[in-house]
Parts: sequence; structure tokens; C-alpha cells
Amino acid sequence: MAFERERQQMIADIESGVAATRSMTGRDQLDPRVLEAMRHVPREDFVPDDLRRSAFRDGALPVGHGQTISQPYMVAIMTDLLELTPHSVVLEIGTGTGYQAAILAQLARQVYSVERIPELARAAQHRLSGMGYDNIEIRCSDGYQGWPEKAPFEAIVVTAAAADVPSALLQQLGPGGRMVIPIGLPYSHQELRLVTRDSDGQLHSSNLLGVAFVPMIKDT
Ligand code: SAH
Repeated sequence: MAFERERQQMIADIESGVAATRSMTGRDQLDPRVLEAMRHVPREDFVPDDLRRSAFRDGALPVGHGQTISQPYMVAIMTDLLELTPHSVVLEIGTGTGYQAAILAQLARQVYSVERIPELARAAQHRLSGMGYDNIEIRCSDGYQGWPEKAPFEAIVVTAAAADVPSALLQQLGPGGRMVIPIGLPYSHQELRLVTRDSDGQLHSSNLLGVAFVPMIKDT
């Protein structure tokens, strides 16, 4: 397999990141299925050609249109916090390259992903179809509205930072559902927030750790 050594290093970096943040996330280690998905999905195929070698570095990378592909550790911990099962239907806001969607698709039944930049949405759909994923649907629209026609979701992951949790996303989170979302202003302090809805419909939320994401843009 290409980039085998880089891939191994990426997994080691993720594991040490998880160990370093265990007091904040409450997780000592990742679900082995999440690590397996991170090992399996070819991250180098999601970055621009000249960055393939850097694809496994423990950081975010620019992917055009002012956007980034998230750091491997961040993709892994956010996915882990969702506690997906093979039955889960997941909503992602911020498709970007489609990398996180591919990881989610390894673990869940169906992934719906929303992206506001048409070129990114098109490129991601093309890339993922080419890789054979048939359980990812992407649409170009405003993530603040979620995807009401496909709700409720067992899990929602937002990969851009919002000032507050969009109310449409709260409405679309089903009973027993889990949402992970970076909350905070652009280029200032942001916290990764976990929101859960219990079986009685009550919402609970907690801030886990400081993060840095591109902003979730409001078009209206
Ligand atoms: N998950 C991506 C990385 C996301 S970067 C990956 O794995 O590659 C954040 C993405 O959120 C960007 O592509 C940006 O265009 C998108 N975004 C920002 N605001 C949005 C909104 N209101 N609705 C939908 N997508 C949005």
C-alpha cells in the first residue's frame, strides 16, 4: 500500500493525541473500528496533488476555496464521540473534500453531507462515487438548515465553527442522538461541544476541548 509508513505514523499520532486529551474528552482510546476506518481510507486521495506527501501530517491542510481538511486526530475524535453503529444515519455539515464523510461511511449505514460551496460539493461527490461509496449523499445548500427531509439523525457532525448550535440541527437530532460541533467565533476561542438527546427527548451539552475550525458561514 502506498504511504504505508506515513499511514502508520498518522495512527500513532492520533493515539498519542487521544491519550493527551483523555481528561477533556473522557476517552482513553478510540473505538478500534474508528482507528480501522482511519487506517483504511486513503487520505492522500483527498488532498491536492502537491500535498499528497503531507496528507498524513498531524495538522489541517489547505484544500482550496479558503477551506481546510481537518487534522487526522480531530477527524478521529469527532467520529469516535458520535458512537456510530452500522445502523446509524449521520448528517455532516461541511463536506469539504469528503474525507470525514468517507470515514463516517465506513462506520454508519448512511451519510448525508451538506456543503455550501458548489465546486467542493461536486468534487467531493465525484471523488467518493469514484471510490465506490454508495452510502454517501451530498447536497449543496446551507448547513444552518440541516437536511430536514432526511431527519431524524442518530448523529450530526459539524466541521465548521458556529457561534451557537443552529436550532434546525437540534430539531433534527433524534432521541438517543449525538451531535459534535465546534462552537465559537472565527479565529477566536472555540470549543468542541458534544450535544446529546436522551430517550425522553431532553438535550444535554458539554464543552470538551479547545479547537480551531474555519467558520460556518451564514449566507442569509
Ligand atoms: N469535513 C471536511 C472539512 C471541512 S472544512 C473534510 O473532511 O474535508 C469546513 C467546510 O464547511 C468547508 O468546506 C466550508 O465550505 C463548509 N461550510 C462553511 N459554512 C457552511 C454552511 N453554512 N453550510 C454548509 N457548509 C458550510
